[in-house]
Amino acid sequence: MIFNQFPQTGWAAGQSATFERYNGGVERSDARRLSIAAALVVIAFAGACTSSPSATQRGAEPVAVPVANFSPAPSTVGSGSGGAMADDGSLSDDGSMANGVSLSDGVSGPRAISVQDGMATLLDETHSLTDPASPWVIVNKTTQLSPDYAPTDLTTPNLPIAGGNGSLRLDAANALTALSKAAEAELGQPLQLVSGFRPFDYQGNLYRNYFAEHGQERADTFSARAGFSEHQSGLAADVTEVGGDMNNFGATDLGRWTAENAWRFGFIVRYTEANRGITGYMPEPWHLRYIGEPLAKYYHGSGAISLETLFGLPPAPNYS
Ligand SMILES: [Zn+2]
Repeated sequence: MIFNQFPQTGWAAGQSATFERYNGGVERSDARRLSIAAALVVIAFAGACTSSPSATQRGAEPVAVPVANFSPAPSTVGSGSGGAMADDGSLSDDGSMANGVSLSDGVSGPRAISVQDGMATLLDETHSLTDPASPWVIVNKTTQLSPDYAPTDLTTPNLPIAGGNGSLRLDAANALTALSKAAEAELGQPLQLVSGFRPFDYQGNLYRNYFAEHGQERADTFSARAGFSEHQSGLAADVTEVGGDMNNFGATDLGRWTAENAWRFGFIVRYTEANRGITGYMPEPWHLRYIGEPLAKYYHGSGAISLETLFGLPPAPNYS
């Protein structure tokens, strides 16, 4: 069950609904059903974590995220013997710790992040990995947002916008505005927001159209099924050059600048060649995920290749 039962309302009827094509490009996203690290997991990653699937409840109540156990390598909190935590607990601009101790390469070594019972802590910030309203919520192919979840603080950022999904959660909107202004100042051109928040039903229609055109296997590599898209969180933004094609964005100066600088404003490029096997999606240089500045700086400095590895969560390349 679970997902091969798309053919639900609308699909069976051949309903097309509003559906976005994005300059001929494909859009995909993400997903969700949680298998989050439970135990005290301070990450001294010892390679890939083994997934421990648990039941998904598609379309069920607000994500009561199933918590799966996985076995982290023995580890220490940053302030412990690993010493990754800076004396003053601050992060320097390049993401390294202020005391000069380099962060690990994302594969091994001491970490300053701890995860316990679905809550993650970095320095003095603690956020849920499972609450849809958390800035650190994990949405991937094994973790899912409730159909009725929508952010309550959607705002229109101040940059060129194409299409009808131009809102983001307040903090993400402000950060995207700042990122675009920095691009303008440093590169001479702003970013254009192509798609921000997308409601559950909208995502479902989007996916169904791709499914119809490309088949399930291919559609799943670039488009998220309803409930499994980061866009529903209001924390994801697809960007491109003004009037540009998203599919070419990664090869443009602005695309390269964005990949190198998004972290300064709290964003990461969520899907890359390096994490394809973890996310199950093709690289998307245009899809930015807001996680806030401290974590984005840490992500950048740590060399982590995905949010999953950053938090010590199992890879999620496939739907269950
Ligand atoms: Zn996207």
